[in-house]
Amino acid sequence: MSKNSFDTVLENGTVYDGTGNPGSVADIGIVGDRIEHIGNLKDADSAQRINVQGLAVSPGFIDLHTHSDFTLIVDGSAESQVHQGVTTEVIGQCGHSVAPVCHHDDIAKRAIGYVGDSKDKRWKSFAEYLDTLEAEPLGVNVAAFVGHGTIHHAVMGDDLRLPEPEEVDQMALLVEQSIEEGAAGFSTGLEYWPGSQSTPDHIEPLCQVAAKHDRLYATHVRNRDRYYDLGFGEAMATARSAGCRLQISHIQPKYGAPDYAMEHTLEMVHTNRGYGLDVAFDVIPHDWNHTLIMAILPKWALEGGVEKIIERLKDKACRERIKKNRNPMWLLVADRIWDKIVLLNSIENVDLIGEKFSDIARMRGIDAYDLVFDLLLEEGAAMYQLLWTSNSFSQADLQLCLEQNECAVISDTLALAPYGPLEKKVGSLSGYGWTPEFLNKYVNEKKIISIEEGIRRMTSLPAQRLGVKDRGILKENMKADIVVFDTSSIRSTWTVKEPRSYPKGIEHVFVNGRQSISAGKRTRVNNGTVLRAPFA
Ligand SMILES: [Zn+2]
Repeated sequence: MSKNSFDTVLENGTVYDGTGNPGSVADIGIVGDRIEHIGNLKDADSAQRINVQGLAVSPGFIDLHTHSDFTLIVDGSAESQVHQGVTTEVIGQCGHSVAPVCHHDDIAKRAIGYVGDSKDKRWKSFAEYLDTLEAEPLGVNVAAFVGHGTIHHAVMGDDLRLPEPEEVDQMALLVEQSIEEGAAGFSTGLEYWPGSQSTPDHIEPLCQVAAKHDRLYATHVRNRDRYYDLGFGEAMATARSAGCRLQISHIQPKYGAPDYAMEHTLEMVHTNRGYGLDVAFDVIPHDWNHTLIMAILPKWALEGGVEKIIERLKDKACRERIKKNRNPMWLLVADRIWDKIVLLNSIENVDLIGEKFSDIARMRGIDAYDLVFDLLLEEGAAMYQLLWTSNSFSQADLQLCLEQNECAVISDTLALAPYGPLEKKVGSLSGYGWTPEFLNKYVNEKKIISIEEGIRRMTSLPAQRLGVKDRGILKENMKADIVVFDTSSIRSTWTVKEPRSYPKGIEHVFVNGRQSISAGKRTRVNNGTVLRAPFA
């Protein structure tokens, strides 16, 4: 037994170390921001002792995929994440980061979850952004990826054209600079402009920079329905050719893909892994898929920014031309299946959040496609904040993914708070309850994987993908990021109508050794920090 005196001892919990080992009863002693000892600490000195008998003690959950780049600047407390045991978030996904930018005005253009009247934050470079983030009291640790869309915009501005080779070189320099300033990886969102028009020639040189610095390349692939095999094949070919490690983000195929798409995709992944490509993937733990409503607009309709878009949306002929778009991101839209699509986020039509597009269209007595245009117009300059969600993933695909060892579980959401400037925002249906949704539905009820394996998918697996060595496992000398929960009562409480609802069953949360949830209640502690790569 250690002779030290401890700041906190968690007594008699069932300790799951995060590596997939089954739980075993032990005490955990914390000193400062580290785990000092795991074992029997019955007689040790400690400033605080918490009896956690009968509860699971796990490494804090690591969310490998979020879009909290701006919301953490607005309110760093990350209530929605802390309440479900998340202790680290990885932002800058799907090609969207909020740095580097050329002009401060570009922050508003790039930022998902932007709040107009929020504190005036100024940064241009990636380093300045990380400094700004670090100055906030943070409820979670944050690692940040640099996004291709943002890099493209920094070099090309609002021009809707693809880069010439010299411009790609400039982009590679910006990726390199961001990585040297602490970016933990590089991401693309190939379903959104400019990713949607970019070819591997545009992306691979940027992946090579990630490869050179051993940073992860995370991609939201080009297509997950009709051309899913082109989308996943392109991701693996680009990573193989660039020599980088690859994370395929939210891998589930969508409505419109053939029934065997998931199985075929996993075959491609496994063949590539067998031949040495370091590729893994992650899933959102439910069958709802969310995105920007703006994603239905073809490139020509985006030209000239918001003012021009508004003019086009008012024009009947333009509307008809947009309706003919064969690839409005979701085939549900192309097939006009409006009863599977729900409004998720809006500033101007808060009352309609949670309603189906088929129902809203009926209420207003208009065609549902025109309703979409009307909602964009009503949102005005904030049209990029308009989100919808659709019931377009398959449960069978999700379960098949979860059966694979290399499948991490993610939120794809925004860190929010149900009060203050972020009160009305919804990042995704499960934004307030993705970890309990996974543990309750897929571990407890469906028994797809064991509890120890379920914990691994949100702890040591994402830490290892990220290259973080001192988190994700409960072991002496690791950082004391810890969540204590009740395996039998843990559950989410969100619904499609009311997604802003905290989960049940999370008892205690520690971030860097200090307690942010105590007996189910949030403390005032915000002890997160910015994790700058390379990691020690
Ligand atoms: Zn994405």
